[in-house]
Amino acid sequence: MKESFFDELGFSTRAVHAGEEIDYENGPGDVVAPLHLTTTYARKTLDETPGGYDYIRSGNPTRTALEKKLAAVENAGYAFAFSSGLAAETSLLLSFLKEKDHIVAFDDLYGGTLRIFRKILPQYGFEVSYADATKPEEVAAAIRPDTRIVWIETPSNPFMRLCDIRAIAEVAHKAGALLVADNTFLSPYFQRPLDLGADIVSYSATKYISGHSDVLAGAVLTNDKTLAERIYLQQNATGAVLSPFDSYLVLRGLKTLELRMERHQQNALQIARFLEAHPRVERVFYPGLESHPQYALGKKQMTGSGGMLSFLLRGDKNYVEEFMGRLHLIPMAVSLGGVESLIEVPAYFSHASVAPEVRLRSGITDNLVRLSAGIENTADLINDLKTALNN
Ligand SMILES: *Cc1c(COP(=O)(O)O)cnc(C)c1O
Repeated sequence: MKESFFDELGFSTRAVHAGEEIDYENGPGDVVAPLHLTTTYARKTLDETPGGYDYIRSGNPTRTALEKKLAAVENAGYAFAFSSGLAAETSLLLSFLKEKDHIVAFDDLYGGTLRIFRKILPQYGFEVSYADATKPEEVAAAIRPDTRIVWIETPSNPFMRLCDIRAIAEVAHKAGALLVADNTFLSPYFQRPLDLGADIVSYSATKYISGHSDVLAGAVLTNDKTLAERIYLQQNATGAVLSPFDSYLVLRGLKTLELRMERHQQNALQIARFLEAHPRVERVFYPGLESHPQYALGKKQMTGSGGMLSFLLRGDKNYVEEFMGRLHLIPMAVSLGGVESLIEVPAYFSHASVAPEVRLRSGITDNLVRLSAGIENTADLINDLKTALNN
């Protein structure tokens, strides 16, 4: 499945062309992969499935085009597109867990992932232990003989903590467990966990990969054929596939990933520096700032710091609410990774589903604000924040 032709080419070349090679023989020579809506494919004989396609859940040419493009930009052998990031996570967990298996998870994860771990998996007898995965030795200490999966997210959400992917892969492999990395925040443009030793990478493609806040999608990638076969079995059997139309939208978005990520990062870094110097801001969390406690690790395993940052305002909930109300350009909304900047307060949005005591223990207070830097003009964004902070 690996496209040796694209292996030699740069990121944007792969993002634009892979999966959409022009087929001069079998059609009008589409430059853009067409949107195939058909749910079924007619056969001429009993045995033959045309192009390997049989029924829409099992395979669809638009989804195949996207999966090839995703694999090419990730340097992965296999990619699978799902109907949402959480559908991708659930499918991949169910692909590999057997009765009573144990999971070690980073204690600083996306709220929706934590909800699966805390509310859904225990119903089936799966146990989850939480560890501070910024310290590989704590992951090692949490591992048990029945540990099947180690699950990390780096940078984490909302504190942009980093996990050493290479070190944790070693710890997981020594115990015979699989390492899964949720790479949503950086996208394959800034970090490729498979290249660093992870077995599986998982995405909410709703975010940077599609990039325009208009489609819900997820993806799972791996280099291992045996793992890929299990993931495909699960995907086809349980059915959380990405629809053709949504595949088409993600295909379109993915082509500009490099351009967007560069600009997201440029804006995030300038905003982070501006906020760090502002008297109404107590602290800024952004891996691209020299003040980030794991700045050196970031330099080692990431090729950029991404577009996400969070910060603590000096003030209470009322001040935070007033600050938000004074922003003209940046809407107060959850989610991230779109061309437009978005701002939110994790305690009320992204982490509202996390139990209050767990939230406070992890430091998610009412004055913690998370910003997804869009691709707008940098000065316009900083002016918007400046006005809102100063008033
Ligand atoms: C949004 C998000 C998810 C969940 O993805 P959906 O597409 O919303 O289902 C998982 N992980 C991270 C880091 C996310 O930001």
